[in-house]
Amino acid sequence: MKLDSKAMRHLTAEDWRVLTAVEIGSKNHEVVPTPLIESISKLRGGAGRVRHSISALAKVGLIARLKEARYDGYRLTYGGLDYLALHTYASQKAVYSVGNQIGVGKESDILVVADAAGAQRILKIHRLGRISFRTVKANRDYLRRRQGGSWMYLSRLAAEREYAFMRALKEEGFLVPDPLSQSRHTILMSLVDAFPLRQIASVPDPAGLYAELIALILRLAKHGLIHGDFNEFNILLKEEPIDPDADAEEQKQPSRKGKEPPTNNVKVTPVLIDFPQMVSMDHANAEMYFDRDVACVKRFFERRFHFVSTQPGPFFRDAKKTVGRDGARRLDAAVEASGFSKKALKDLEAAIREQQEARGPEGEQDPASADSDYDEDEDEDDDDDDDDDDGQPVNQDDDGEDGRGESYDEHSE
Ligand code: ADP
Ligand code: MG
Repeated sequence: MKLDSKAMRHLTAEDWRVLTAVEIGSKNHEVVPTPLIESISKLRGGAGRVRHSISALAKVGLIARLKEARYDGYRLTYGGLDYLALHTYASQKAVYSVGNQIGVGKESDILVVADAAGAQRILKIHRLGRISFRTVKANRDYLRRRQGGSWMYLSRLAAEREYAFMRALKEEGFLVPDPLSQSRHTILMSLVDAFPLRQIASVPDPAGLYAELIALILRLAKHGLIHGDFNEFNILLKEEPIDPDADAEEQKQPSRKGKEPPTNNVKVTPVLIDFPQMVSMDHANAEMYFDRDVACVKRFFERRFHFVSTQPGPFFRDAKKTVGRDGARRLDAAVEASGFSKKALKDLEAAIREQQEARGPEGEQDPASADSDYDEDEDEDDDDDDDDDDGQPVNQDDDGEDGRGESYDEHSE
């Protein structure tokens, strides 16, 4: 699903209010009855005004009418939830315009956005349930048992959890994007000017980079964490210029697949991303997750760089002994303490696991398909108009989240 922010400008304050009412109603209703939408939105124009907004919102696909429902009602679509999140960021003055989509994963969309000053940021929109509701039958059965919009609930949870981990990791000095804000099923973070390891054809020192990545896995373990998806898509290699006079480093240039190697001397530094699935070193399947992360690095380095470490391991049992050592703060505990219920975490974990199984391990994709990694947008309602390169302004005002305030029509592009 592609986020198309164009319709945002045409929404009135009343429309926002009604959209927000549908969101509020969704907390307890899979399908929000029209009278409930009317009573929550409390518009001055009464039911007629609400109906007008409802049809405007349905027309641009932000809410959808459920035909088979026992009663007349609507549910929020992913598009509707996207707009509510963008609206919040716009009110916070954190996002001013929406630019290109740079990633379409199975579980998320990644967009470049900009603040009013033009500084680029990354908006990650979680789309859990995208697979579940379409292809994986077992998932569908599992999720059907949940109430109140399973995809919305799970995607929100994924975003909240990812944001909590990103903050905790940042505080501990790990190289991760800056967590800037979080709303609903989305997170806003700094743009890392770097390519995923996946797109790097060669590095000057594979052994050095391998050691650095293994050290990163062990450092996470010391803080009680396993990444759980530690693969070449989730490691961005930052290229930093080094002193051109330093002879020893002269040859240390990575080269990107299909591109000319950079002309300047650079040093590569891994930046880790993608955290919703992180697990504790105390998790019942911790050893499996730990071993899988390690195996992923080993396999990639062998295939891509023909590098095989002479050292076996690292092994979970050794890593386990280091948890909390030297006063390392337990980040698993810190995040768990930040208000996620056990039940919610179980739901999220099950959904993520099922999605990972549906997609297969990323590390086993054919390297030749590297360039088309982000082309597969499966969603049927993608109308593919690629004219948004210059960034679509989303409208800002100070009316907070409740849609009260000025009309969105009045803002210029
Ligand atoms: P998913 O959960 O769908 O795998 P990721 O968080 O891994 O989503 O992001 C998908 C891709 O988007 C990454 O592989 C990377 O290329 C790009 N990306 C994500 N976050 C950033 C960021 N902060 N800066 C630059 N690129 C990013
Ligand atoms: Mg990823």
